[in-house]
Amino acid sequence: MSAELSHEVLDPATEQHVATIRLTSVEETDTAIQRSHRAFQEWRHVAPADRARLLRRFAAAVDGAREELAALEVRNSGHTVSNARWEAGNVRDVLDYYAAAPERLFGRQIPVAGGVDITFKEPLGVVGIIVPWNFPMPIAGWGLAPALAAGNTVVLKPAEITPMTAIRLGELALEAGLPADVLTVLPGKGSVVGDRFVTHPLVRKIVFTGSTEVGTAIMARAATQVKRITLELGGKSANIVFADADVEKAAASAPYGVFDNAGQDCCARSRILVQRSVYERFLELLEPAVAGVKVGAPGLDDTEMGPLVSAGQRARVSAYVDDSVDVAFRGAAPEGPGYWYPPTVVLPRGSEDRIWREEVFGPVVAVLPFDDEADAIRLANDTEYGLSGSIWTRDVGRALRVARGVESGNLSVNSHSSVRYSTPFGGFKQSGLGRELGPDALDSFTDVKNVFISTED
Ligand code: NAD
Repeated sequence: MSAELSHEVLDPATEQHVATIRLTSVEETDTAIQRSHRAFQEWRHVAPADRARLLRRFAAAVDGAREELAALEVRNSGHTVSNARWEAGNVRDVLDYYAAAPERLFGRQIPVAGGVDITFKEPLGVVGIIVPWNFPMPIAGWGLAPALAAGNTVVLKPAEITPMTAIRLGELALEAGLPADVLTVLPGKGSVVGDRFVTHPLVRKIVFTGSTEVGTAIMARAATQVKRITLELGGKSANIVFADADVEKAAASAPYGVFDNAGQDCCARSRILVQRSVYERFLELLEPAVAGVKVGAPGLDDTEMGPLVSAGQRARVSAYVDDSVDVAFRGAAPEGPGYWYPPTVVLPRGSEDRIWREEVFGPVVAVLPFDDEADAIRLANDTEYGLSGSIWTRDVGRALRVARGVESGNLSVNSHSSVRYSTPFGGFKQSGLGRELGPDALDSFTDVKNVFISTED
């Protein structure tokens, strides 16, 4: 296989060969889109209860393959096995959640004169899902489950370097009884397969998760066909710790709010804002918490952080922590092969520093002090991103005021949780457009049709 047409998957923890994946060409992408379009004509008419049953079977197949999928993700992406198990379970849960949708895709009956007015939620057609490398399984599931439930067919492109679990999910869908071409997984390059999703007129919607740079280019190009888009882009989220918080708990949990998945998480709380009166105390408590993060072989049950996904990503992260950056302290990382980078805490000189402003997408967190509530909100919002964030305080009024004040799609109080399959997820400002998960995601996979029926003689 020529290097142009294939990608060699390496284990990020060992740099050993895992598999060689054939990459899809433009011609093959076109054929797959046409087949998906033909399958749509049937799939949209599958009886709601049958579509629901097939999605539940798909969920059960994913559940049965949970350990296998988790092991694949450990080797392909370097995710810790505990995270990878959660991720496979999340695909199952999202499928189960949206399996309830085909029978509940209600329209409305609207009072009008002279007849009856009803609305239908019609599927769009072929949906193209473009997935990044940082969470290959969940991000695939968040797109494909509601898209299929609403009666669309799906073509899905995993990231070039992390295709293994998506390919397996495609096989499991067929094993569970989904008709051929209803879900098609096309490993390949963004510039080839992903780009064709955007330009092909039969792809009616793009769900894109990835960098703000590629997302904005997709948005501009999708405009030429008025193609629907959902964008989930980058983040530089704030973890705001007030002096009246349980500072011990805030410090103990802060590493897990940013170093999970080795910081390769769009929701990473990579800016910690600490009220000045407890700033020194917080840093004293943060140091042992960071040192305590268990970094090592991702296949071990108790490992908390694995390697970065690739040599390129490690080079990118390392370049952010150059001589101009003050490192306060670091955790541990193994020596030898593998794309390791230790959890790192840096102290920027001010809010203009690059390390404070840009998404590092690695285990690096910056800490700055603030004076009062207004100052905290101002600093938190001083970014073009707005994806997630955390607020630590014992004052419920303050928690709500600050949550309303921070321009971000997903906030948690006294916790770092961002994602639940039953609640909406998505970004403000340049972190994205539209919402995934929860009850509203179905709206972005359907168009509303209004029908008036005259009752006059
Ligand atoms: P990326 O934008 O380079 O790639 C994402 C996907 O887009 C890949 O599948 C890639 O092959 C494809 N792609 C690249 N160029 C394309 C093109 N011209 N046309 C169509 N598709 C193209 O991002 P990445 O490096 O894989 O992922 C990291 C980024 O993703 C980070 O910025 C992170 O914040 C973001 N992210 C956001 C979320 C979220 O939900 N908001 C979730 C995960 C990752």
